[in-house]
Formats: sequence, C-alpha cells, structure tokens
Amino acid sequence: MSVNSQHACNLALFGALGDLSRRKLLKALYFLDDAGLIHDDTRIIGIARQEMDDAGFIDVAKENLERFIKAKELKKNVLERFLKRLSYVTIDMTEISGYEKLAEKLKGDDKPMIAYMATPPSVFGDICSNLDKVGLNKSPNRVVLEKPLGKDLASSQEINDVVAAHFGEEQTYRIDHYLGKETVQNLIALRFANNLFGSQWNQNHIDHVQITVAEEVGVEGRWSYYDKSGQMRDMVQNHLLQLLCLLAMDPPFDLSADAIRDEKLKVLRALKPITTETINTHAVRGQYVAGNHQGKPVPGYLEEDGANLESHTETFVAIKAEISNWRWAGVPFYLRTGKRLPSKVSEIIVQFKQQPHYIFAPDQRNLAANKLVLRLQPDEGISLQIATKDQGLDKGMRLRSGPLDINFSEAFKQDRTPDAYERLLLEVMMGNQSLFVRRDEVEYAWRWVDQIIDAWDQSNEPPKKYQAGSWGPVSSIALISRDGRSWNEDS
Ligand code: NDP
Repeated sequence: MSVNSQHACNLALFGALGDLSRRKLLKALYFLDDAGLIHDDTRIIGIARQEMDDAGFIDVAKENLERFIKAKELKKNVLERFLKRLSYVTIDMTEISGYEKLAEKLKGDDKPMIAYMATPPSVFGDICSNLDKVGLNKSPNRVVLEKPLGKDLASSQEINDVVAAHFGEEQTYRIDHYLGKETVQNLIALRFANNLFGSQWNQNHIDHVQITVAEEVGVEGRWSYYDKSGQMRDMVQNHLLQLLCLLAMDPPFDLSADAIRDEKLKVLRALKPITTETINTHAVRGQYVAGNHQGKPVPGYLEEDGANLESHTETFVAIKAEISNWRWAGVPFYLRTGKRLPSKVSEIIVQFKQQPHYIFAPDQRNLAANKLVLRLQPDEGISLQIATKDQGLDKGMRLRSGPLDINFSEAFKQDRTPDAYERLLLEVMMGNQSLFVRRDEVEYAWRWVDQIIDAWDQSNEPPKKYQAGSWGPVSSIALISRDGRSWNEDS
C-alpha cells in the first residue's frame, strides 16, 4: 500500500494555464503518479479564465509534460493514466458563475477538494470568498497559497485576513518551496536523529553559520515586477529565514506540524532587530552594474529593459543576524543572497569551533575546525569537513582536511532527486502541514524584515554597486571580515 493510498482528493488547480502550473506543478503531479503516490480516485481539475474543454486542457498538459520532462522519464502508461485524471473548468476568478459550475461538478463527491492557488495573490480573496459562497470552503477542503504573501506586514495581514474569513488555519497551506527540498528536511533528521550533531548544536561548539542563496540570472525581462519587491522581500523574508529557523530551532516535542512551527516561531521572535543604529554594521544592500556572465557582457540592473534609473531596489542582500537566546548567544548567522552572482548555488555552512586545546603544527590550526556543508543546489547533499592525518611517511603528523560526503543522487541510487513541489503536493494531499508556513511565522518574519527595509529607507543611501558576475559589494565582505571570518570560498 502506498503512503498516499488513503488520501483521494480533487485537486482544483487555479491558474492552471500559468507558468508555475505548466512548468512545475503538472510535472510534479506526473512524478507523484509515476511513484504510485497518487490515489487512484484523485482527480485534477484545471481552472483558468480561458474558454477550453477537458480535451483542450489535456492537450495543454501533455504538451507541457513532454516539454519539461526528459523523454526517458516520461512513461507512456503513466502519462495515459495521469491524463485521464484531468478535466477543466473555465472560471474568471472574480466572478461567481464559474464557481457554481465547479460546485455542480463536485456535487455528491465526498473527497476533499484542494484549491491550489497558482495565481497572483490579488485574486486569493476572490477565490476564497467565491468558494465559500458555493459551499466549497468546509473542512476537510484546503487552500494552498503561493508566494508572495504580501510585500510587508500590513499587506500580508490583509491577505491572511481575507483567507481566514473563509478557511481555518488548519485548512490553509502556505507554500515556501524551500521547505520541500530533500536537504532542508534532512536538516531535521541530521540535527535530531544524530547525537553527534544534536549534542554540539549550540554556542559552545558552533562558531557561526552561513546561508547563501546565489542566482546567476538577472531579472530576466521582469524588471518592473522585480523592482516592486527586491531580494529582501523575494528571498530573505521567506526562504532564507525559513532555513535559519530550521537550523536554529530547539528540538520540537514531536514531528507534528504545530510542534515544529512553534519552535520555528520562537526563533523568529528571538531575532535581534536590525535598526537605524545597527543597519550599517549588520546589513548590506547591493545592486548590480554591468559585468560578465559566463564570459559574455551583461547589462546592469538600471540598464535592463524597462528600468527606472532612480530605483534603489536591492538585487543583493547580506545580513549578520543574531538570535537572542541561550543556544545562539554570540553565534552570528550570516545570510547572503543576490542576482547576477558567479554561480547558482544554495548552501548552508555550519562552522564549528576549534578544539580548545590544539597540539598540531601552528600553521595548520585552521584545518582543525569542522565544517558541515548542506548543499541545496546544485547536487543536493551533505558534506562534513574533518581533519585527518595526511598519508605518507614524509608527512609526520601533518593534518589534511577532507570531506565525508553524501551526494543524495549517488547515495540513494536515484536517477533524480524529487523536486520540492512533489513533496509539498504530496503533503497537502495527505493533510500534513509540517512543511507549510503558519500565519504567525509569516508575520513575525515580515516584522523583522520590515524594520531592516525601513532602516535602509531612512538612511536614504543608495544600494552599494557590485559588478554582475562578482560575489556582491565589497561591503558584504567587510560585514563578515570585521568579525575575523570570511564567506565560504568553495561555493
Ligand atoms: P502566471 O501569470 O503565469 O499565471 C497566473 C495564472 O492565474 C494564469 O493562468 C492566469 O490566467 C490566472 N489568473 C490571473 N488572474 C485571473 C482571474 N481574474 N481569473 C482567472 N484566472 C486568473 O503566474 P505564475 O504561474 O508565474 O505564478 C502564479 C503564482 O505562483 C504567483 O503568485 C507567483 O508569484 C507564484 N510563483 C510562481 C513561480 C514560477 O516559477 N512561475 C515560483 C514561485 C511562486 P490568464 O492566463 O488568463 O491571465
């Protein structure tokens, strides 16, 4: 029996013709079907404005599956089975009439309906209130909300209020797709299943933590969309803070959704505010200027199509975050994320302290500190740098630092690591909220981020410039080097 054999549902995919659905969601659902993780009775209902019948939507889905899945992974029998699950309802999300058609279609069907909103947040309210009007908001029905959940605390509260007027918190699944990544979930296993790490996970043994999420791309033709958010709202408020929470939280009393989310919330509440007094020592915002990407010249942020030359929007952020509790007193968490950086990499470095008593060659002292590297991309995996004796009669007691390495795709003999959306869709279907963000988490994260953005606005200083293809402004190096540390150079 598969893990999901008891969880039949009707998945109503709002925005089924949009980019996210075409590129990611349909593909993720196909792979879940291939893995035998979708109940036989589960049906997927595509919903969008465009007039289309079931056959038309099935054609769109097939075309996109063939486009986004490698030919060797697309199995004829699975594809046939998958396409049979699909149907389509035309709905203008702002008008009630379409929802009546949906309710009629689902009449007498007692499977839970999952409303996945792959739409702009501006229509979340209409979708929820119209589902309520036709009686499709009752538990065990659920709603899934895509990011962005607002652009600050006030707008996120507005979205959450409008959803909460129609669906309970226990029916609401807020996506942060980083939480669906294997390595991120492995953080929980690594920390809480291994005494080796569990017992060392505090200020007595850890020197500092680094979280880097680097993108090679620029704004990719979406200047005006990106300019309204910037890297702080787009990446730090959600993905980087969620990673920080999982790294820093205390052990939850069990693996239930609220036990984990309670612990994450405590971390967010303990984040030391970064204010106008500390903004210059604790945060750097940058904006790329023209440079090179893979040997080719690329324009600066203010030279991209549609750019407004006055824009102060940051394309790079570096932060020294501090957590006010016993576990992390004196242990900085350095966060760094940006566009047009030299490589696409997401990784976490946990730098352990050196042994208190050192007996090897003085020039090798730096090798005697363990470093745990969690790679989210590329090549999801975990590696632990340990010091060993170098081999060879001539080496004496010289040390050598090398990795104990687990590459997930090699270690688990998988052809591919499942995409985060596969895990998240599976969890929604099973009604498990652990990998979804609770309302109070979103709001505490905004409180902390808003304060930093306000401090930048008040300073009125423009973002620091950095060349496209570099690792960000010089001041981001100063941010960490002032503390006698440096960014991980193996990225
Ligand atoms: P798109 O603009 O490509 O798709 C949005 C979909 O919503 C379209 O099908 C659109 O229909 C539909 N829609 C919008 N307004 C209405 C309406 N009034 N009535 C009916 N349908 C409507 O956006 P994306 O797919 O890129 O993104 C969807 C959501 O997911 C956004 O919140 C985005 O921030 C988030 N997201 C997207 C990611 C991605 O990789 N694309 C990654 C992470 C999050 P129509 O085609 O008719 O306009």
